[in-house]
Amino acid sequence: MDRLRALLPSARGDRIRWGLAALLAVTILLVPNLAQVAENAFPDSVSARFAIFLASQALVLGLWATSFNLMLGYTGMVSFAHAAYYGIGAYTVAIIAHNYHQNAVYGLLAAPLVAGAFGFVTGLIALRAVRLYFSLLTLAISQLLFTIAFEWYDFTGGDNGIHNLVIPDWLSDQTTIYYFIAAVTALCLLLMFIVVRSPFGAALLAIRENRQRASSVGLSVKAYELAIYTIAGLFAGVAGGLYAIYDLQAYPQLLYWTTNAQPVVIALLGGTGSFLGPVLGAVIYTYLQNFVGKNYPNEFDIVLGAIVLGVVLIAPGGFVSLPDFFLRLRSRFRRRPEDERVELVESAGQAMAALEVSRAVASSAVQVDPGAAEPAGPDQRATLLKVNGLSKSFGGLVAVRDVSLNVKQGDRHAIIGPNGAGKSTLFNLITGRLKPSAGSVEFDGRTITGWADYRIARAGIGRAFQITNIFPRLSVRQNVQYSMLAYRKVTIRPFGFADRIFREEASDLLESVGLGRYAELAAGQLSHGDQRALELAISIALGSKLLLLDEPTAGMSPYETQKAMELVRRLATERGLTLLFCEHDMNVVFGTAQTVTVMHLGRVLTEGSPQQVRNNPDVQRIYLGELEASA
Ligand code: ADP
Ligand code: MG
Repeated sequence: MDRLRALLPSARGDRIRWGLAALLAVTILLVPNLAQVAENAFPDSVSARFAIFLASQALVLGLWATSFNLMLGYTGMVSFAHAAYYGIGAYTVAIIAHNYHQNAVYGLLAAPLVAGAFGFVTGLIALRAVRLYFSLLTLAISQLLFTIAFEWYDFTGGDNGIHNLVIPDWLSDQTTIYYFIAAVTALCLLLMFIVVRSPFGAALLAIRENRQRASSVGLSVKAYELAIYTIAGLFAGVAGGLYAIYDLQAYPQLLYWTTNAQPVVIALLGGTGSFLGPVLGAVIYTYLQNFVGKNYPNEFDIVLGAIVLGVVLIAPGGFVSLPDFFLRLRSRFRRRPEDERVELVESAGQAMAALEVSRAVASSAVQVDPGAAEPAGPDQRATLLKVNGLSKSFGGLVAVRDVSLNVKQGDRHAIIGPNGAGKSTLFNLITGRLKPSAGSVEFDGRTITGWADYRIARAGIGRAFQITNIFPRLSVRQNVQYSMLAYRKVTIRPFGFADRIFREEASDLLESVGLGRYAELAAGQLSHGDQRALELAISIALGSKLLLLDEPTAGMSPYETQKAMELVRRLATERGLTLLFCEHDMNVVFGTAQTVTVMHLGRVLTEGSPQQVRNNPDVQRIYLGELEASA
């Protein structure tokens, strides 16, 4: 529980971080003055020029690491090509200033365009793969770009690189360069901050948390990954361009893949989970490099390694998470009597709530009669989902064989069958996670056979998985809210504040599934049953007309099962949803379903009303057979 609690930064921790950011901003503004004061006080040991140079370096590294963290921290992508875009930025400035004798500042304007273009093209290639294979492709791309920079003597200066750049006179003063870098960095950080808090940023977080879930709420994961990869490359280009302006050179090592260690270490030190993290990390890193590294050059790597190890083990959220760490420590040691009273009151409140729920369940158990809810007869209703001759084989094994079935509008349709009957596979075919080997699927009058999963989700088919599938490190409210953003395509907007959009709607929906009290908890902290309820809420948030539930009560206690199915029935009635679910628990099936399809060995064995199916001798035989096998 404590580890999970550490998942979401606390509001007090956030206030401390804002304070820290303000302090950092003021310090950055005062660096030239502070450096001068220090030099006057200790003329033998401090050089103001050098201190300002280091501060420039810290700013550029902070910008670069923040752009890297757009991928690592916000999207969960590990790229080994980020140094290449940094290097490309530096070369753009160097080549424009040196080869073409143009103003270096024009080079800086071109750097993000060039780096972004390289990012887009190479990203298209790297994103043909996911996770480790994506990382390996970025590594290959980075080697390729390095080799080009290394070998192309006429253009890039080959292994020597390009040195002694000429920059405009107005920029040549150390303090002016510093303020110029600070201004460009601040502008870039502001832009990136806007992006990560926007609906677009919300989509990235959803992808980081759960790629599969993200596409089932309607996000085209690869498109978002390509977009952020390009944006990260673009800002890396700015950082590299700034580097060339203060260090007056560009050389192939900048592009070398090992150079990526720098933004990784900086982001980890500072903290990947917070926007401020990499900036803070860059300050700490620069300090370590120049004070440990200068005095004990041989020990620098050991010290750095030990510190990174310590940070990752003790405070996985990096330095920037220390406020939360200390707040938790403090609350553990200073448990005041009032705190305990609050807790008692809370648990009394919980007891009351539980009582209310059980009352609601008891009364609904009397009221809800699946047969009574049935209109004139299922055959009169329109067909919402039409599955025709659907088959899927895995190698030699035919998991689903020529399955046809119709789901009527507003029906509560169950699919039952022993383990391995092909129920989950059928669901995966309908929702587009798997492509059928043969057959077709029509939904709401459209043929959706072979559509990508996110398109099918958009068309109105929601699902809950056999293994509960949520965004664990987002808050319960964000789970619902971001799904709404994704579904309504608001997530293409890279500005605006994601957490303020649809907030009310999300809260109302959470109230209606009984999760209102938990809205601000990390979703991973919820009990199993509540996570299922959250999945339902997500599906409703997506405006799904048809809800596919794969064993909705798997792993629940009888009480939780009753509560969950009551919720499902109520939501289906209130919101006019059509349900297609598979389930092992026969009480659940016969208590909820209006139509039952029985599957066995990938085929449809029979279909009918719960009564008909219950009395079918074949059905009794396969279930008895299963019982015997398990005994
Ligand atoms: P159910 O959900 O009814 O228990 P499944 O659809 O999960 O059944 O599985 C049906 C059959 O297909 C099983 O024999 C299972 O081993 C096989 N199967 C399911 N998914 C795969 C897969 N990705 N690769 C190979 N075989 C699979
Ligand atoms: Mg299954």
